[in-house]
Amino acid sequence: MNTKALYAGSFDPLTLGHLDIIERAANIFDEVVVGVVVNLEKKTMFTFEERMEMIEEATAHLPNVRVSQCRGLLADYVNNNGFNVVVRGLRCMSDFDSEQQMAHLHEHLYHDKIETVFLMADAKYSFVSSTMAKQVISLGGNGEMLVPANVLKRMKGKAY
Ligand code: ADP
Repeated sequence: MNTKALYAGSFDPLTLGHLDIIERAANIFDEVVVGVVVNLEKKTMFTFEERMEMIEEATAHLPNVRVSQCRGLLADYVNNNGFNVVVRGLRCMSDFDSEQQMAHLHEHLYHDKIETVFLMADAKYSFVSSTMAKQVISLGGNGEMLVPANVLKRMKGKAY
């Protein structure tokens, strides 16, 4: 069976924790789509196009990964685009609580048998989030351990 996995998020911006999950998913599944969620209500540091570009640059070495936009209800996107796996990352117990709720909700919304697969965050990225990276880097802290080099370069040119 061809396995087509979706890894969705806001990615505002992509962190090394996200990239680690993408690389590991690319080793497991035939095809991985990184879905950048379009949420018009959420104020973001980077435009939708910038977020997509940064992920494309950082995943250019992964031939079975592509980046796509994800509009509307996530379950509809999954149902309509032939996915059989949805990948999520787990950092801590609070992630577990919200992810469990989402996975159970999605069981009702998915049309076919679609599995949510959880990958445990690498210990060195278990504290990394996009929000925390934005705060640290905007205050002049070292962001090298938080975001890929191409993202860091763009963040330094932005006010937060
Ligand atoms: P959103 O902003 O839409 O909540 P995120 O960018 O926070 O999306 O997260 C997308 C997915 O990546 C989620 O499954 C989240 O748990 C996971 N994730 C976020 N940060 C990390 C990290 N440092 N390590 C592993 N997984 C992560």
